[in-house]
Amino acid sequence: MSRHDVIIIGSGLGGLLCAGILARAGLDVLVLEQGAQPGGCMQTYRRQGLDFDTGFHYVGGLDEGTPMHAVFCHLGLMRLPWQRMDRLFDRVTIGGQTFAFAQGYDDFVQTLAADFPHERAALQQYARLLKQASAHEADLLDPTGAADPSFTERLMETNARQYLQSLFRDPLLIDVLSGTALKMELRRESLPLFTFVHGHSSYLESSWRLKGGASQLAGTLVRGIRAQGGEVLCKAQVAGLSGHDGKVSLARCADGTCHEAEFFISSLHPAATCALAGQSQPMRPAYRRRMAALENTCGMFTASLVLKPQTVEYFNHNHYVYARPDVWALPQKDGHVGGVLASCRVPEDGSPHVRQIDLLTPMTWEQCLPWQDTRAGHRGDSYLALKARLADECIALAEQAVPGLRDSVEHLYTSTPLTYRDYTGTPQGSAYGTRKDCGNPLGTLLPVRTPIPNLLLTGQSLMLHGVHGVMMTALSTCAELIGKERIWNIIKGTR
Ligand SMILES: Cc1cc2nc3c(=O)[nH]c(=O)nc-3n(C[C@H](O)[C@H](O)[C@H](O)COP(=O)(O)OP(=O)(O)OC[C@H]3O[C@@H](n4cnc5c(N)ncnc54)[C@H](O)[C@@H]3O)c2cc1C
Repeated sequence: MSRHDVIIIGSGLGGLLCAGILARAGLDVLVLEQGAQPGGCMQTYRRQGLDFDTGFHYVGGLDEGTPMHAVFCHLGLMRLPWQRMDRLFDRVTIGGQTFAFAQGYDDFVQTLAADFPHERAALQQYARLLKQASAHEADLLDPTGAADPSFTERLMETNARQYLQSLFRDPLLIDVLSGTALKMELRRESLPLFTFVHGHSSYLESSWRLKGGASQLAGTLVRGIRAQGGEVLCKAQVAGLSGHDGKVSLARCADGTCHEAEFFISSLHPAATCALAGQSQPMRPAYRRRMAALENTCGMFTASLVLKPQTVEYFNHNHYVYARPDVWALPQKDGHVGGVLASCRVPEDGSPHVRQIDLLTPMTWEQCLPWQDTRAGHRGDSYLALKARLADECIALAEQAVPGLRDSVEHLYTSTPLTYRDYTGTPQGSAYGTRKDCGNPLGTLLPVRTPIPNLLLTGQSLMLHGVHGVMMTALSTCAELIGKERIWNIIKGTR
């Protein structure tokens, strides 16, 4: 049996960031991952000699002077081949009209105000809020307690759609501003302004793609952890946690191996963590019930296209295309594709043409229900037909941004929420973790602490999802073990 300072369950981005930070702070860490490769949503798969990403297309806020840049430098991730996206990094086509998002708050306002001159003042006010939210995010980790907690509370209690409707008069502009939000679940009755603004602000500051794919993030983090004496074990599914005196002391893997530690961090869905700790630990029933009752955000359908050589020019921006106005109606109740994100993989050979484009659209768990108990590869013709129809509808929509796309397709691979459920264990294959609710902010914005004092949480279900959100949460989790001062020093680049 091995013994460590900290055991981290799950090697997704959340788990690996925590392990990297703690290992560099001198702690002996062990990461236990159920899958065959580390990375969770950052893992890649290979088909016909090409690599495909599973949960990463672009990231915001990597410019110097940001917390993200500082943390990525600290962990060696800034050495990866990041590629800055175009000034107009996101384009949104709604009802045949195309609008652009520019990097930089001022440029963002100018660009959209050119299309919506009557909304210039409101756009400026909105940009000020995004800027404030971004600055406040880092202040939350300031050990002097500079941050005003009521700011987060206000944003969590505010319904994002109602806020937009109160600020802007033009419903088309509201759709445009929400149109890049396939990277979150646009649920009109519950989406908090907190989730909405944090899903935008870092991307407006600067937007980046990674040449060569997201598994480089996981690979770099794993090498860094091992260089500090830590370990990442794959095919090590944690089946239970046990202990005594109100604490966890041991992780038991499905193959019977056991590992001991002083502290445990789980990057799993909070309900899954409770299930692991539930049997033999004093996990309060009320807490367990609360975690089990959390709702999950929708999942994603991805059509990964391999294109015939030299048929489509690479575009260094993302293109979101909607069939009709009201982007808040996605995923559509009729199960058809109402909006799609088209995102290129950076050509690694420097070619002006692109070989791989991913098309993404939200997909509900309800659409997956008929096959939830069937093993991958055995889901039959009806499942294949559903995937073929969705891919077909995605391509048809994406053709508005990429004319001739259909004729350029050489191969097509698809994934659904079932794929994510199967590979990462994420309940209902949800793309963004648990659902935050402006009507229940305290119940859905989860703290990193649990009722078990040496069991902490991290990952996308706690506060914010995506690379940026998961990183901010990892900092909060690590601060519990090594103190806010050390985290603050990393952020400020003064380590
Ligand atoms: C289709 C899609 C596209 C996306 N695109 C972007 C994007 O362009 N930019 C962006 O910023 N974000 C994007 N995201 C979101 C981003 O990928 C996630 O928010 C983030 O990677 C989640 O990291 P995590 O560590 O919280 O969870 P995960 O990546 O799910 O990691 C959890 C890990 O725990 C492991 N695990 C589960 N159970 C056990 C167990 N019992 N024992 C051991 N290990 C276990 C899993 O195998 C997994 O490796 C996208 C997500 C999806 C689904």
